[in-house]
Amino acid sequence: MEGIRVWRWKQFDNLGLPTHEVKELVKALQHRKITLGKEEDGVIWAGTKSGRYSTKEGYNTLSEQGHTTAKDILLKICWDKRCLPKAGLYAWLALHNKLLTTDLFRKMGYEGPSKCSLCEKVEESINHLLLTCEYSYNCWSWLRKQLNWYSPIPDSVIAMFQAWPIMNKGYIYEGLWVAAPSMLVWELWKERNRRIFREDKLEWQQLTNKIEAAIIELINSHYMKNHKNLEMSQWDDKMRLKWIGLKIPLFVGDGLVSAIHKRRDCKWMPPEEG
Ligand SMILES: [Zn+2]
Repeated sequence: MEGIRVWRWKQFDNLGLPTHEVKELVKALQHRKITLGKEEDGVIWAGTKSGRYSTKEGYNTLSEQGHTTAKDILLKICWDKRCLPKAGLYAWLALHNKLLTTDLFRKMGYEGPSKCSLCEKVEESINHLLLTCEYSYNCWSWLRKQLNWYSPIPDSVIAMFQAWPIMNKGYIYEGLWVAAPSMLVWELWKERNRRIFREDKLEWQQLTNKIEAAIIELINSHYMKNHKNLEMSQWDDKMRLKWIGLKIPLFVGDGLVSAIHKRRDCKWMPPEEG
């Protein structure tokens, strides 16, 4: 039988939730009118009409919940579809201090060596390992130079991400702004693990070569899938010179025409000194 009832919520003990979450759940369900239908019960994602979850829908829902601009940028450069998903995930964990660096191990009672494996000088912490360490700082400086972006480097990873600009919106290489920071964090974390667990290492110049190749592969593969409305700015033109290997897929019909058309409007820029 179908009908609307006011449900009496009583038993939550077997859900294994913490007390404060049970209280919130009870509050949310009180006086909730429940419609009983004939369909089987199932789990749905409430953020969409279809009830199906996807990363994009998750991102949209979080974005719509009134987060501050600073938080929006963190969401964007960790969870945007142009990021490498595992790189975005590790960057997100780093931003929330959830990567197991040795300073956290120490707080948990670990008493072994806790030196940063990149410089072997200072105790390892998220901000040191992923930003202020000389090794990491060189990598960030390289990346910013590669993006033609020069401004003071903040002293924490989260400040770096919050200050990260997404410029050149709607142009060909906008994805570089979006995908690059998480890729850098991910490669730094892998380099740290390479040194600890494989007793092998790359110099920072070798790591930046690797980061560049990874970003180019990511951006190119994105173009292969999304090749509409390509437009090129002067910045994009510069990026083509700096990131050898970035390519506009030649097989796209309208997109290529649009890109060439826009390029004709670009002024020639003299190459940078050096
Ligand atoms: Zn260090």
